[in-house]
Amino acid sequence: MYVKWLTLRGFKSFASATDLVLEPGITCIVGPNGSGKSNVVDALAWVMGEGSARSLRGGKMDDVIFAGTSGRQPLGRAQVTMTIDNSDGALPIDYTEVTISRTMFRGGGSEYAINSTPCRLLDIQELLSDSGIGREMHVIVGQGQLDAVLRATPEERRGFIEEAAGVLKHRRRKEKALRK
Ligand code: ATP
Ligand code: MG
Repeated sequence: MYVKWLTLRGFKSFASATDLVLEPGITCIVGPNGSGKSNVVDALAWVMGEGSARSLRGGKMDDVIFAGTSGRQPLGRAQVTMTIDNSDGALPIDYTEVTISRTMFRGGGSEYAINSTPCRLLDIQELLSDSGIGREMHVIVGQGQLDAVLRATPEERRGFIEEAAGVLKHRRRKEKALRK
């Protein structure tokens, strides 16, 4: 399983639709400071279900929408689409290619889809966590996060292990059920 395609539309600094075509193995993104390297990583986390504005290096969730520049108007929506090659069947879904997309509208409202079928955010999170891809630290290690792991409290460390073991999904479901 690997990410073979990532399309950013109106996501952070990527105002125009930008396609990244990836190969199996290691991908490096290089570029000058401020050119959008970390924004690509934020886009990956976001489309995989990241729900914390702080983890996305913003103050609020709609900071992911292109905010405009001196020469270009702000946009009304951000969209990221990710295609995963699933020919090894690592994702528990009957497709060799799985396309996940997330759209957020300025002023409120979000849409999610798996293979063009509308779904809930939870469906995306569960599909990925079933294959051991979570939305937290062991997938995307940001600057300074190695330090955070080393300094984690026992409870936080337990959280990493629970996520890797796939327990976190059931905990989230339980918490959701208890809130009803
Ligand atoms: P470094 O090498 O310093 O880590 P980088 O390539 O990782 O840089 P990013 O952090 O990805 O750079 O990009 C930062 C740029 O993205 C800044 O210029 C910032 O203004 C721009 N940016 C972030 N959010 C938005 C947004 N919502 N709308 C427009 N531009 C944005
Ligand atoms: Mg960066």
